[in-house]
Amino acid sequence: VLDVAWALRFVALAAQEVAQQRVELSELDRAIGDGDHGENLARGFGAVTAALEKADPATVGAVLKLVATTLMSTVGGAAGPLYGTAFLRAAKVSDAPTIDAQGVVSLIDAALEGVVSRGRAKVGDKTMVDAWHPALEAASRAADDGDPPAAVLARAAEAAEAGAAATDDLVALKGRASYLGERSRGHRDPGAASSALLLRAAARAVT
Ligand code: ADP
Ligand code: MG
Ligand code: MG
Repeated sequence: VLDVAWALRFVALAAQEVAQQRVELSELDRAIGDGDHGENLARGFGAVTAALEKADPATVGAVLKLVATTLMSTVGGAAGPLYGTAFLRAAKVSDAPTIDAQGVVSLIDAALEGVVSRGRAKVGDKTMVDAWHPALEAASRAADDGDPPAAVLARAAEAAEAGAAATDDLVALKGRASYLGERSRGHRDPGAASSALLLRAAARAVT
C-alpha cells in the first residue's frame, strides 16, 4: 500500500539515487547548462534526509510537504522552485492515509501542474515536463486499465524514462539550455533525467 511508510521509503531511495547519480546528472547539465544539477539535487535531498530524521510526518502529504519546503530552501537554481512547487502541489492532494491508483494519477497530475505553473514550459521544450507529461498519460491509462497503484507508478516511471531519453533529439526552448539553441540538440535534459529517477524511486518504494 501507498501509505506514509511508502512515502518515507520513496524519499530515502530518491536521496540514495540522487547521491549515486550526482556526477552523471551534473555531466548532463555541463553539456547544455552550468553543470550543477547533480550537486543541486544531492544537496537538496541530503537536507531532506536530515529534516526527516528530526520530523515525524504522519501522512504522505506531510512527507511531501517537508520535501517541498526543504528543496525550495536548499536547491536554488531552476530546479529548486520547480521541484519545490511540484512536491508542494502533490502534497496538497495526498492527505488521505493511503493513495489508491487514481490517487497516484492525481499526485503526478498535481506535480506536473506545479512544474508548468512555475516554469511555463510546454511538452517538447526539452525540460522536466518531457518526463512528467508522458508519466501522467501512462499513469492515467494504467489506472483506467484497473492496474493497482504499484503498477500505475511503474508504468509512469517507464514512460518518464522514455520521455527523458526522447529529450536527446530536442532543441531546448526553456531554461539555461535554451541559450545554446540548435547546439542543445543531441544531449539529454538533466531535469528530465532526474524526474525519471524520482518516479522510478517512487515505484521501487512500493513493497
Ligand atoms: P539551473 O539551470 O538554474 O542551474 P538546474 O541545473 O538545477 O538549475 O536545473 C536545470 C533543469 O531545470 C533543466 O534540465 C530543466 O529540466 C529544468 N528547467 C529549467 N527551466 C525550466 C522551465 N522553465 N520549466 C521546466 N523545467 C525547467
Ligand atoms: Mg544547472
Ligand atoms: Mg545553476
